[in-house]
Amino acid sequence: MTTRSESRTALDHLLSEIEHRNPAQPEFHQAAHEVLETLAPVIAARPEYAEPGLVERLVEPERQVIFRVPWQDDQGRVHVNRGFRVEFNSALGPYKGGLRFHPSVNLGVIKFLGFEQIFKNALTGLGIGGGKGGSDFDPHGRSDAEVMRFCQSFMTELYRHIGEHTDVPAGDIGVGGREIGYLFGQYRRITNRWEAGVLTGKGAGWGGSLIRPEATGYGNVLFAAAMMRERGEDLEGQTAVVSGSGNVAIYTIEKLAALGANAVTCSDSSGYVVDEKGIDLDLLKQIKEVERGRVDVYAERRGSSARFVPGGSVWDVPADLVLPSATQNELDENAAATLIRNGVKAVSEGANMPTTPEAVHLLQQAGVAFGPGKAANAGGVAVSALEMAQNHARTSWTAARVEEELTHIMNDIHTTCHETAERYDAPGDYVTGANIAGFERVADAMLAQGVI
Ligand code: NDP
Repeated sequence: MTTRSESRTALDHLLSEIEHRNPAQPEFHQAAHEVLETLAPVIAARPEYAEPGLVERLVEPERQVIFRVPWQDDQGRVHVNRGFRVEFNSALGPYKGGLRFHPSVNLGVIKFLGFEQIFKNALTGLGIGGGKGGSDFDPHGRSDAEVMRFCQSFMTELYRHIGEHTDVPAGDIGVGGREIGYLFGQYRRITNRWEAGVLTGKGAGWGGSLIRPEATGYGNVLFAAAMMRERGEDLEGQTAVVSGSGNVAIYTIEKLAALGANAVTCSDSSGYVVDEKGIDLDLLKQIKEVERGRVDVYAERRGSSARFVPGGSVWDVPADLVLPSATQNELDENAAATLIRNGVKAVSEGANMPTTPEAVHLLQQAGVAFGPGKAANAGGVAVSALEMAQNHARTSWTAARVEEELTHIMNDIHTTCHETAERYDAPGDYVTGANIAGFERVADAMLAQGVI
C-alpha cells in the first residue's frame, strides 16, 4: 500500500528524471508537471497504478520521428524546415492529434501537445490514442502554391508513419482546411489509396465531417456553459473575452452568440481588437478565413464601436467569461490578477495550455471556475473521431446529428471531471478531475496490455 505522500515523492523524483532526460524542453516539462502533480491521490488509492514502470512508460513517447522538409518558394529558392511526429501512446487506439505549422515549433512543443493529447483523447471516451506533429514552417505571407509545395514535401516523408489504423493527424495552428487538402492529396497520390480515415478535418465534399471546423470552439463554449450551470448561472447576457482569431476563436465566438453571450474581443500576434457592440462574425470570417488578413483590418472596417490595440494584453478587457483560444502560456499571473479584479467568473481553455501554472493557481484560489484545455477543447478531437467513424462506414451524418453527439460528449466530459474531482477530495477542481479521469482510462488499458 502506498500513501499519498509516498506517491508524491515518487512522482517528484520522476519529474526530476523527466527534466534530466529531456533537456531544453520547457513546455514538455510544464505539461508533465501539470499532470503528474495531481496524480498522487489516485496512485495511493489504486495500488496497481504504483506498479514500477507504469507512469515511466506513460511519459516516454512510443515513437518520435524528426525529418527534413525541403521545398522551393515561388522564386525557386530552396528552404529547409524540420518536420515532427510524436506518437505518444496508442493503448486506446491509433495515435490521434493535430499538425502545427508555426515558427515556434520544436520537439519540446510537440511533446507537450502529444502528452496532453493522451489524456484529452481518453476523456472523450472514444478509441483514440495520443500523438501530435508539425513543423517550424511559417505559412504567414506564403502563396497557396508555396503552401502546397511545402505540404507535399512534408507528406512525402510523413506518409510512411501514418494510416487509418496507425496514426491519424488533423489540423492545429497554421493547419486548416487548405493544408489538410494538400496533405491528403499527396498521401493519396503516393499510396494510391482512397484512405479517407488517414486524416481528419477534410472538406465536407470529400470525406470530412460536418461540424468538424466548428467543433473545438463550440465544444469549449458547451464546457464553459456546463461549468456555469454548476454555479447556478447560464451564458445569457454574459460578456466574454476571447483571444486568437483562428479556427478555435471564430467558432467560440459563434457559439457564444448562439447561447446569448457577447464576445467583445479577438486577437492575433499583432494585438487585439475590442468591439463594444460584440464581434461581427461575418466581418471577422471574411478577413481571417477568406483574405487571411490581420485583426487591425477588422477595427478599420467595423467603424466606431471597435478599436485595435497594437501589442496590448486582451486580458485587460473586463469579462464574465474568458476563453483563451490562441496559444500556450498566453495568460500569465499578472493577466489572471487583472481578470480576477475585473470579476471574471469562468476561464475555459480553447487553446492548449494557454494559462501558466501560476495563473491557474491564482484563478482557482479566487474561486474562478477553471476548465483545462484537455477537457474543455476536446470537442475538436472528439468530432475528428466521429469523422473517422463516418469514413469507416462510408457514410456521412447530418450536422444536427454530429452536433448532438458533440453536446453529449462535452457534457459527459464535464460530468466525469466534476465527479472525479469530488471522488478525490478536490471538489470544483477540473484540473485534478480531468487529469485523474484521463489517466485512469489510459493506465487501465496499459496495464491490461502488458509491458510494451
Ligand atoms: P489557427 O492557426 O487557426 O489560429 C491561431 C490563432 O492564434 C491566430 O489568431 C494566431 O495569430 C494566434 N496565435 C498563434 N500563435 C500565437 C502566438 N505565438 N502569439 C500570439 N498569437 C498567436 O489555430 P487554431 O485556432 O486551430 O488553434 C488555436 C489553439 O487551439 C492552439 O493552442 C491549438 O493547439 C488549440 N486547439 C486547436 C484545435 C483545433 O481543432 N484546431 C483542437 C484543440 C486545441 P497569428 O495569425 O498572428 O499567428
